[in-house]
Amino acid sequence: MSQNLPQPIANPDSQVYWDGARENRLMIRKCKSCGTVHFLPRYLCPKCWSTELEWIQASGRGTVHSYSIVRRAALPEFADQVPYVLALIDLDEGTRMMANILGKDALETRIADRVEVCFEQRGDNAKVPQFVRQSGTKEGN
Ligand SMILES: [Zn+2]
Repeated sequence: MSQNLPQPIANPDSQVYWDGARENRLMIRKCKSCGTVHFLPRYLCPKCWSTELEWIQASGRGTVHSYSIVRRAALPEFADQVPYVLALIDLDEGTRMMANILGKDALETRIADRVEVCFEQRGDNAKVPQFVRQSGTKEGN
């Protein structure tokens, strides 16, 4: 994808996530009380409401739960990206996240495909965790 795409805006709940991405690490939250791993990053456990959370580095591997091929860009910045794949990824750690599938074979994505994280450069100093099919080629690294 492109340097011209929007850059992420970190907030206190997501700063570690974006800092990790900049270093090619996929960071997710884990509850110290009940062990639940969750995404998006937030300050309360969505299962037990504990605030005792920690950051863990995910393996970056997962499975496609579902996907959609976007053929009409929602924002003008993405107009030259279509068609692209938006997918729900079940991480091996047990939580689900939304990301794009990148790579030359992205449009061949199917439910249950194995995928691994890659990091798409945005601007000079940001990266966005995205995924490639494990049989695919890595773009955006
Ligand atoms: Zn919990």
